[in-house]
Amino acid sequence: MATTTSAAAAARATAFLSRRQIAPRSSNGCARAVFGKVGAPQQQKSFSTTCRRERQFQHDPYEQLRRAEPLLRKRPQQQQSHEHYTTEPPRSSRLFVAGCVGAAVAFYVLNTQTVPVTGRRRFNFLSDEVVIFSQGDAVGGVIAQVHEQGGRVLPENDSRTLLVKRVLDRLIPVSGLKDLNWEIFVIDDDNTANAFVLPGGKVFVFSGIINLARSEAGVAAVLGHEIAHNVASHAAERLSLVSTGYLTGGCLFFLSGIWTGLTLFGAWAFVGGYYLQELLLFLPADRKQEHEADCIGLMMMAEACYDPRAAIGFWQRMEAMSKAGGQEVPEMLSTHPSNEHRIANIAHWMPKALEKQASSDCQGTAAFADRFREALKKRKRDVPL
Ligand SMILES: [Zn+2]
Repeated sequence: MATTTSAAAAARATAFLSRRQIAPRSSNGCARAVFGKVGAPQQQKSFSTTCRRERQFQHDPYEQLRRAEPLLRKRPQQQQSHEHYTTEPPRSSRLFVAGCVGAAVAFYVLNTQTVPVTGRRRFNFLSDEVVIFSQGDAVGGVIAQVHEQGGRVLPENDSRTLLVKRVLDRLIPVSGLKDLNWEIFVIDDDNTANAFVLPGGKVFVFSGIINLARSEAGVAAVLGHEIAHNVASHAAERLSLVSTGYLTGGCLFFLSGIWTGLTLFGAWAFVGGYYLQELLLFLPADRKQEHEADCIGLMMMAEACYDPRAAIGFWQRMEAMSKAGGQEVPEMLSTHPSNEHRIANIAHWMPKALEKQASSDCQGTAAFADRFREALKKRKRDVPL
C-alpha cells in the first residue's frame, strides 16, 4: 500500500514538473558527452563523481521538486526594504497633486475680475443663469413663509403695488436687465422695513419700507439699491465664494487623509472656524457689495430722473429708526455698512448723481448700469459715473 502511494506521488510530481518544463540541472558546469548514432536515442555521459551523482537525480522527481525554481521570485533585499520603510508618496501622486494645484490656480486667475466703480478684485465663476437655475422655486418658498407668518401678498390693484410698479417701470430700462421676467410681490406687513430682488427679477417689497420711503423717489432709492445687487451679479459672487470654500475644505480633508482631516476639522470647529470665516471673509465681502449697490443704485435712480437726494433722506430715516429700536449692530459684525457710513458715501457721490439726473433723457439710452455690466464682462475697472 505504501509502495503504491509512493509511486502515485512520484507520478504526480513528474507530471507537475513536466508541466512546468523543468530541465535537469547542469548548473555546476560538469562536462557532458553525447554519444549515439544519427537517428538513434542519444545518451549523456558524465565523467566526474559529482556529475554521476547528478545524473542519478535527474530522474528522481522528489529531487527535481526540491530543486525547482519558485514561480514567484523574491524581490531583491534592497528594493524590498526601500518599499517597506519609505513614507515618500509615489511620483505619480505628487504629479497629480501638483497638477490639481496648478489647475486650481489657473481657474482662480481666469475667473477673477475687477468690479467697476469700486475697483474691487473678485472671484466669480458662475453666470447669472446658473444662479437663477440653482435657486429653484425661491419665489414659492418666500410666499409660503409669508403665509406661515400670517402675512399676505397685496393684490395688483392695491395703491402700494401700483406705486412699486410705477417705480420699476422707470428703473428697469436703465438697469441693463430689461430682458428678465420681472415680477412684483408687495407684502402687507407694516412692521417690516425690508425689500429684496431675487436673481431673475423677482421683486419683494414689504409695506413697512414703503411707509419709511415716504415718496416715489424714496421707493426708487430702495429699489435702485436692490436691483443694483442683480446688476453687479452679487448673488453669483457669493455662491462662488461659498462653493469654492467648501470645495477647498473637502480637497484638503481627503488629501490629508481621513484621520488628519478629521483632526483638522475638529480644530477648525473648536477655534470657531465658522464664525472666523464669517467675520474675516463673508462679512467684509457683503459690506463691499452693499457699497457697490449703493453707488450703482444712486446712479440708476438719477438716470431714471428721480431726485437722488431722496436717498440721503431715506437712509437718515433708517438710521433714526434703528436708533429708536435699540442698539445698531457694529459695522464690523454686520453684513451692511453703518447707516452713518452709508450716508457719507452717498453724499460723496451726490454731485455726480445730480449731474447725471440733469443730463438724463430719462429713457435709459445712456444707461450707467449697461456700461457697468459691459465693463464687468471685459474686466475693466473704470465706468464713468
Ligand atoms: Zn443691499
